[in-house]
Amino acid sequence: SVPVLTIDGPVSSGKGTIARRVAAELGWQLLDSGAIYRALGLYARAQGVALNDETALVPLAERLPVRFCEQGGDTAVWLDGADVSRELRDEKTGELASQVAVLPAVRAALLARQQGFAEAPGLVADGRDMGTVVFPDAPLKIYLTASAEERARRRHNQLSEKGFGANLATLIEDIRARDERDMQRAVAPLKPAADALTIDSTHLGIAEVVSRILEAAAT
Ligand code: C5P
Repeated sequence: SVPVLTIDGPVSSGKGTIARRVAAELGWQLLDSGAIYRALGLYARAQGVALNDETALVPLAERLPVRFCEQGGDTAVWLDGADVSRELRDEKTGELASQVAVLPAVRAALLARQQGFAEAPGLVADGRDMGTVVFPDAPLKIYLTASAEERARRRHNQLSEKGFGANLATLIEDIRARDERDMQRAVAPLKPAADALTIDSTHLGIAEVVSRILEAAAT
């Protein structure tokens, strides 16, 4: 079977950047599972379906018309024929995502789609429950974390680079609230898999984290 390397962790822990670089180094496929939850949040809103209407959300999750197109080291995301790459990364979209993500039937409806990303020669899967639920047999599982303050600072830089304004104190609050929701939910809560290697990146640069993961992958 195809080797899978999972990278789970809280919001703005650097998972996205790290997963992309590790996948590029290994020449493996990349799954940004958060983007699927984000796309579902946008799709539900566009279809006028309430974000807590589990029964109505399941068919949307099953037919979610999302496409990921690799473009010069970045991924363009198309939803229902429209390029939503920019909107997808907005804080508000993350908020929509974390609301639909608490619903067990929605998570179940997205499971096979996520597992389908495991294609030769291998997959780097980024999310909250990659090592615990979606790829429980993955031979290498990383749990990437950092302090809430450091994550808020990183998010702030990321957002201002993309031209989004954001207030640091508000970001710290939002990050704490989203962590809380992701960790406290009944289904697939955010937590390290029992066999995960935890990396605290509060004081580590991107290159350092990537090389630690590649080292672990090589052993
Ligand atoms: O990682 P990202 O910020 O894009 O994820 C957005 C939200 O989607 C998370 O806060 C979480 O609630 C949800 N999510 C999830 N399981 C995943 C990936 C994301 O519940 N595997």
